[in-house]
Amino acid sequence: MRIGIGYDAHRLKAGRKCILCGVEIPCEFGPDGHSDSDVPLHALMDAMLGALALGDIGQHFPNTDERWRDARSIDMLKDVYSIVKEQGYALSNADIVIILQTPRLSQHIYHMRNCVAKALNVAITSISVKATTEEGLGFTGDGSGIASTAAVLLEKITS
Ligand code: MG
Repeated sequence: MRIGIGYDAHRLKAGRKCILCGVEIPCEFGPDGHSDSDVPLHALMDAMLGALALGDIGQHFPNTDERWRDARSIDMLKDVYSIVKEQGYALSNADIVIILQTPRLSQHIYHMRNCVAKALNVAITSISVKATTEEGLGFTGDGSGIASTAAVLLEKITS
């Protein structure tokens, strides 16, 4: 078994699409950045890479590389999970926390879990997505940013 954690935060910008765990959330603002800036998936990919001490997504998908401009993070996640499987590991479970003041995400949670589970070809019961606010505190509280953390457990499948 290998355990990994990931963290990411992005500035929120008016007019940007808000794509979280591969699901487009109806919203007038979204995370700014080079790719689609799917913050929880960035945290999840870093957790997977971290579990195998393989660096971070900045090394695998440099934001100086035009190939990754507006890249879909759900596709990047599939690439990262291919690396995990090449190393002989499979996902046991993932637990993701999204920290955002507004909008409320409760009605989108199931769809987000399903989207991640499908991308990784694992059971939806292996994917947890939770959302919280920070009660108006800090950069997530004042609406200037969004943050996410993720933890994963990987299981060795081959020797
Ligand atoms: Mg990021």
